[in-house]
Amino acid sequence: MSASEEREITAEDSIKVVCRFRPLNDSEEKAGSKFVVKFPSNQEDNCISIGGKVYLFDKVFKPNASQEKVYNEAAKSIVTDVLAGYNGTIFAYGQTSSGKTHTMEGVIGDSQKQGIIPRIVNDIFQHIYTMEMNLEFHIKVSYYEIYMDKIRDLLDVTKVNLSVHEDKNRVPYVKGATERFVSSPEEVFEVIEEGKSNRHIAVTNMNEHSSRSHSVFLINVKQENLENQKKLSGKLYLVDLAGSEKVSKTGAEGTVLDEAKNINKSLSALGNVISALADGNKSHIPYRDSKLTRILQESLGGNARTTIVICCSPASFNESETKSTLEFGRRAKTVKNVVCVNEELTAEEWKRRYEREKEKNARLKGKVEKLEAELARWRSGETVQAEEQVNLQDVMEVSTPNLEVEETVKTAAQATNITAMVGSITSDERSRLEAERERLYQQLDEKDEEINQQSQYVESLKEQMMDQEELISNARAEYETLQSEMSKIQQENSNAKEEVKEVLQALEELAVNYDAKSQEIDNKNKDIDSMNEELQQKQTSLSQITTDFQQLKDMSTHQKKRINEMLTNLLRDLSDVGQALSTDSSMDMKINVADSPGKVEEEFTMARLYISKMKTEAKNIATRCQNMEAQQSDSNKKITEYEKDLSEYRLLISQHEARMKSLQESMREAENKKRSLEEQIDSLREECAKLRAAEHVSAVNAEEKQKAEQLRSMFDGQMDDLRIAHTKQLAELRDEITKKEHNLNDLQESHEKLTLAHQQMTSDYEKLKQEEAEKSVKLQELIVGNEHREQARKDLKGLEDTVAKELQTLYNLRRLFVQDLQSRIKKSINNEDDEDDGGSLAQKQKISFLENNLEQLTKVHKQLVRDNADLRCELPKLEKRLRTTMDRVKALESALKEAKEGAMRDRKRYQYEVDRIKEAVRQKNLARRGPQAQIAKPIRAGQGIQSGIRPGQVGQVTSTTATPPIPLNSTA
Ligand code: ADP
Ligand code: MG
Repeated sequence: MSASEEREITAEDSIKVVCRFRPLNDSEEKAGSKFVVKFPSNQEDNCISIGGKVYLFDKVFKPNASQEKVYNEAAKSIVTDVLAGYNGTIFAYGQTSSGKTHTMEGVIGDSQKQGIIPRIVNDIFQHIYTMEMNLEFHIKVSYYEIYMDKIRDLLDVTKVNLSVHEDKNRVPYVKGATERFVSSPEEVFEVIEEGKSNRHIAVTNMNEHSSRSHSVFLINVKQENLENQKKLSGKLYLVDLAGSEKVSKTGAEGTVLDEAKNINKSLSALGNVISALADGNKSHIPYRDSKLTRILQESLGGNARTTIVICCSPASFNESETKSTLEFGRRAKTVKNVVCVNEELTAEEWKRRYEREKEKNARLKGKVEKLEAELARWRSGETVQAEEQVNLQDVMEVSTPNLEVEETVKTAAQATNITAMVGSITSDERSRLEAERERLYQQLDEKDEEINQQSQYVESLKEQMMDQEELISNARAEYETLQSEMSKIQQENSNAKEEVKEVLQALEELAVNYDAKSQEIDNKNKDIDSMNEELQQKQTSLSQITTDFQQLKDMSTHQKKRINEMLTNLLRDLSDVGQALSTDSSMDMKINVADSPGKVEEEFTMARLYISKMKTEAKNIATRCQNMEAQQSDSNKKITEYEKDLSEYRLLISQHEARMKSLQESMREAENKKRSLEEQIDSLREECAKLRAAEHVSAVNAEEKQKAEQLRSMFDGQMDDLRIAHTKQLAELRDEITKKEHNLNDLQESHEKLTLAHQQMTSDYEKLKQEEAEKSVKLQELIVGNEHREQARKDLKGLEDTVAKELQTLYNLRRLFVQDLQSRIKKSINNEDDEDDGGSLAQKQKISFLENNLEQLTKVHKQLVRDNADLRCELPKLEKRLRTTMDRVKALESALKEAKEGAMRDRKRYQYEVDRIKEAVRQKNLARRGPQAQIAKPIRAGQGIQSGIRPGQVGQVTSTTATPPIPLNSTA
């Protein structure tokens, strides 16, 4: 047998079970949980006892075991297995927060805290770099989670319900799961990060979600020997299971409870599979009960090296969960896998194998013929002697290397036996039933696939619907804004119209005013004109009068002159007369006397006449003069009057002129105003026109909206069609959505509850504080009371002392007194005098009095002592009470602190979740760009990181089939 033929032979291999205990966590320590597990001291470190029961595993890790130790002792060997073409599985089982994720993942990138997955990834690449150089590797990874029995691809969020199929070797695999080709550990970590962030997107509370879903990381390693074209492949499943705790502990209700049950269902399916495998003789293993068990079919009782890490808490609080976890591990340990190398045979090897099988077949055919002959004899009622019977052992021996054949022969043998005994199920029927089952399984798979496609389709439809809804809502919002704008514009329009109306009215009023004013001005002008005329007349009359007056003045001066002349003439005449008389008279007299005395007389009378005439004339002149003067004063008066009038009129004129000016100004203003108003009207008219245009535009928008409506109706129609086509799926979807909503509501409710609880807690805290304050007050009081008591005790002691002293003195006195008495008695006896009787009586009385006093004092003393003792008894009790109250206060305080911290933590978590979801939604939007092209990168063994694959070569695209092997770099 060649080496490769040896490898064909399968080997039995038990599932390896290791157990890891984490340290007590803070909350457990605070709650006073005890460390309930014991690690019996033996060198193997494979033993653990809890509650007196001892469990044996392949390895037991104590709480202080480092990540490195766990990896080296539990997982490291799987790397070489996988690179040698074996399948491998590592999964972590245990209740929530028992350390599954810590063990599987840890802190990626932290050399101390990183878990099994990153270490394995690093090791695989490290191994490849040290292997023979003629080996070429293709490594691809998948990452998905199983939640509520649905497989969700974590590398492609649109794949929400992937189906499980069987490949040509009847090995189940997740169909359609995204596979990423990777060529360095860094790329693997990037893929893990991507998957994790996608996982975060879909859920609201990651902690809860991760405790209820199983996450599966699959590394697929294919290698080809470039010299002899030998191909090997190994699959490594790394599974972080959901929390195994019982539902009651989580306090789940409603949908959450359903969820928990569902998750427990897949875990219980796992348990059932393991039990069935552990029982060993069950022909039917219920792998098909859940997707988890189907995926792990090869890992459980199939072709895989499987390691189960069972994670436990050592706390007394979790004792029952820990026990059931250990029980699971114990059962799993008994499961046997059958491992073989996954090898693609070369043509030569196939040929050889074919020859072998042909030969075997011929041998078996001969046996079958013999058996058939025997059967025919049996059937015909003959009894075949034992030595004539065909030996079934021979038949089995022929087929030993091939388990399948063995199985079929076994079943055939059983079938013949059963047929012989019961005769109910013929082998034909059996094979028919098997075929039927196969067919049904296939159908089931097909249906699963269909469901997957439908759910993807639904997902894309959902996305489309969301987009459309967004569009519609956008259009609606636009429409609304347009409408509001339009109404605003209309409002403005009507406002403007009103304004215009008002302005027009104001203009009209102004025009009317203007008319009235101009009328007024006209009137005034007319008035002024008439007054001017009057003035003119007055002035002319005045000038006439002044000329008259001038004439009169002239006349009077003339008259005066004449009078003066006349007077001077008269005087001259008179003087002449006088002269003549004086000279002539003597002569004349002489003459007259001599001539004629009659002539003188005549002349005299004539003179007299003249004089009288002159007199009258003078008188006339005087009166005329007087008249003239009166007239002058009159005219003077009149002149002043006229002047007054004149000045008045001038004032009036100036007033009128001023008024005219102001009126003209107001007129000008009015005109200006009119002009501005006219301008305003113009602008308003323009605006009106604009608004009308805007109205027109908005009408056009309405048309657009109608178009949108039409579009929408079209979409609606489409949607309806789609709905009719997929009513079922949609109904399911809706159910799911409502469920989700329920979930959401529940979450919100719980959030509210939490906030309420928080409030409650704060109020409690308040109350507790108050209580504490009260208590402290009481404490104070008690302390004060204690002090008082102390004081009282001291006082009492003092009193006791003084009483004792007094008693002592009394006792002394009594002694003295008795002595005195005795001496006196002696004396009296000596004197034999009866006179002392009275005195002794008084003394007796005194004594009795003192004795009474003494008695009372002792009574008081006794009472005081008793009281003191009582108080002493009471003191420790009180002190005890004090201590308990203080303890209680302390406990309450610590509880309060814890509650507060818990509330804070919850709050922080909520905040974090909210932030995360926001981020996730943003990333989801970014991620909706569709799947990327797959990249296959062959990795060549024997190449160090420096010369071979460097991180960051992600962009170099090559195809698995099309890539010619890259020439080797000789590093050695
Ligand atoms: P699970 O995945 O089982 O729900 P986790 O792995 O998330 O539990 O562990 C819960 C917490 O306990 C984490 O904070 C983790 O760091 C801590 N933890 C778990 N195992 C250990 C350990 N062996 N040593 C120290 N801390 C641990
Ligand atoms: Mg976890």
